[in-house]
Amino acid sequence: MAQTLNLTITADVLTPAELSAAEARCWAAAQAATDHAYAPYSHFHVGAALLLDDGSLAWNTNQENAAYPSGLCAERTLLFGLNGQRPVRAVKLMAVAARPQNGEFVAVTSCGACRQVMIEFENQQGAAIPLLLPGPDGTIWRFKRLADLLPFQFMPDVLPPRS
Ligand SMILES: [Zn+2]
Repeated sequence: MAQTLNLTITADVLTPAELSAAEARCWAAAQAATDHAYAPYSHFHVGAALLLDDGSLAWNTNQENAAYPSGLCAERTLLFGLNGQRPVRAVKLMAVAARPQNGEFVAVTSCGACRQVMIEFENQQGAAIPLLLPGPDGTIWRFKRLADLLPFQFMPDVLPPRS
């Protein structure tokens, strides 16, 4: 008889008042960043923020282009930008927020391509990065690590060894 594989993904469902002070700062930074999205085509403003190990915050937004595939999500804009700087500061927390251009914040999760990049960044860091995502009805979903977002992610250990 065939076996069945069952997966469980766990996240805390919080109210904004249940965030720690550090979480609240990062959450607010992600929300504030949505003001600076360049999204003239989708009119969907996304902000992503990181709390770094020195207590500072980094953030970025989705960047679109008239040649649609040339744009990039907020999560990847942020992580690629950080990774290009040296020294790369350790990331303690990530948060994502989104809203229509002139609307209220909405529940959203990161796209599959961003999840893959987020996980590789986490692996590169060698330490879990908790994640705050906007859930329904004003709740906040808190994941313990970025990898929780993407079961069965592609891992580099399947690549052939370099000769
Ligand atoms: Zn994405």
